[in-house]
Amino acid sequence: MLDADQKIVVSGMRPTGLLHLGNYHGALENWVRLQADQTIARRFFFVADWHSLTTDYDQTSEVKNFGFQMFIDWLAFGLDPAQSTIFIQSRVPEHAELHLLLSMITPVAWLERVPTYKDLQKELSGKDLSTYGFLGYPLLQTADVALYSGSHVPVGQDQVAHIELSREIVRKFNHHFKHEVLAEPQALLTKFPKIPGTDGRKMSKSYNNSIYLSDTTETVRKKILPMKTDPARMRRTDAGDPEKCPVFDYHKIYSSPDTINTVAEGCRSAGMGCIDCKKALLKSMDERLDPFRQRRVEVAAKPDDVRAVIEQGNTDARKVAVLNMERVREVIKI
Ligand code: SF4
Repeated sequence: MLDADQKIVVSGMRPTGLLHLGNYHGALENWVRLQADQTIARRFFFVADWHSLTTDYDQTSEVKNFGFQMFIDWLAFGLDPAQSTIFIQSRVPEHAELHLLLSMITPVAWLERVPTYKDLQKELSGKDLSTYGFLGYPLLQTADVALYSGSHVPVGQDQVAHIELSREIVRKFNHHFKHEVLAEPQALLTKFPKIPGTDGRKMSKSYNNSIYLSDTTETVRKKILPMKTDPARMRRTDAGDPEKCPVFDYHKIYSSPDTINTVAEGCRSAGMGCIDCKKALLKSMDERLDPFRQRRVEVAAKPDDVRAVIEQGNTDARKVAVLNMERVREVIKI
């Protein structure tokens, strides 16, 4: 049993596609960092397969495969099953049970006022988002965390409203049943580096502008070389502004301070052409990513080992979930 004041971190990823560099720098890299944080007692990271149904219930054929590939990426890029409990949400059915119970006490208006609810309905107008599953996804998120007495959820600024809602729901539940049975989660506010897609827009599989963790060195080369640059640099002799160029966003993540300075100066003075700038970037990216890519090939070559890790993670997560649900059932007397 853990002390009440020990930090427990919980977070998940939706298996709606292969993981790309946006997912890595926007979540996974931070999860790996959190493994070194001695103030955290336990870490739970899960493949949020039920969450993928909230927007894509009509596209389930690849969910299992994407979930499996996600585990390979996680293991290759540094998640360590000895330090983090890594598992699949749907293999722990208590997530659904707690979600159902939370739905009994949550006012519909609380869910309707979540900013992303209306925004995503507009943004993803081609999808059927008029379902209860989509409206109720913040409840499933709340259950995902509360099931493990999660105290901290790593999020960016744009996700803080979700954590606030989770806290409200947990408070209402505890208040109604007159027991502090569920833990109130806090946002573990994290700054994530900006990594746009190869066309300068948000990196997303639907824009076909992603660099995947499973891409080979050669594939990445084919994606980086034709990348969009500062539109002011029409000709080699035109000076550019690196701050207006997505290639430079990549340099800021992968290159050394010296290279970043050389590139920025070469861009502004037209002393360096975009092709040379991209080649310098590829060198920096390869130095950083090649060891992971190599490890990914090794991990992927042993699918049975990956399956064993998943099974063990599911079992470990379920042990905690079952205990917590017993306490919840006691409190609600059902
Ligand atoms: S030199 Fe580099 S930073 Fe400048 S516009 Fe070209 S690719 Fe972008």
